[in-house]
Amino acid sequence: MPKMMVAGNWKMNASSEATTELLQGLLNGQDALPAGVEMVVFPPLPYLAQAQQMLQASGIAYGAQNASEHAKGAYTGEVSTSMLADFAVRYVLVGHSERRSIYGESDATVAAKYMAVQAAGMVPVLCIGETLAQREAGETLSVVNAQVQAVLDAAGAESLANAVVAYEPVWAIGTGLTATPEQAQEVHAAIRAHVAAANAEVAAGLQILYGGSVSPATAAELFAQQDIDGGLVGGASLDAQSFLAIGQAAQAQLAI
Ligand code: PEP
Repeated sequence: MPKMMVAGNWKMNASSEATTELLQGLLNGQDALPAGVEMVVFPPLPYLAQAQQMLQASGIAYGAQNASEHAKGAYTGEVSTSMLADFAVRYVLVGHSERRSIYGESDATVAAKYMAVQAAGMVPVLCIGETLAQREAGETLSVVNAQVQAVLDAAGAESLANAVVAYEPVWAIGTGLTATPEQAQEVHAAIRAHVAAANAEVAAGLQILYGGSVSPATAAELFAQQDIDGGLVGGASLDAQSFLAIGQAAQAQLAI
């Protein structure tokens, strides 16, 4: 695993034309592409073939925003992990807060998806984070640790050697509010310590991304924190220059 990763979650924003334009913008920025930082895009599912075709010879990886926990069958509208693997997908987001809150995905469902992704040979990006009410009630660390524990219980700590964790405070997603570097670092360190209690070696190598209104203006300070290994970026990933600038901010940390 590289030391830093910058991943762009496009959510339900794109068209065929916009996908070509955005990916081309990233490819045109090859010179600005950070060496040593893994850049990943997560387009909506219908544009995965386009991503595969445009990115296969590049250093940019791509992934899916969701996958079914089921292997196949009567699950209308769902997409299985083996289908994603057909498009040479490397990463799959699991447990994004929008999936948890809008579609009612429980910790158990998220853990089942996480295992299905790994079973199909891909890397889950496990998203966790507290709501504003939970933060104000002082429950942040217990909430995120419980979300991690659900995966530890189901899949074992060793499975995190082949996964990425993204800490995304729900109150910071799409709101323009970013956790301060200190707030983010406190939670990242707690997540690493929680995993370390189960497997210290896996915890030391675990990539923990921060997500929540990351922008070119806020990235450098966040990425400078000891336990922040990159970012999961929503809005700012829809603009090639912004996304590349966030990648550059990650690269700057590698030089330190
Ligand atoms: C996200 O969707 O994972 C996210 C972090 O979004 P934004 O950067 O827009 O807050």
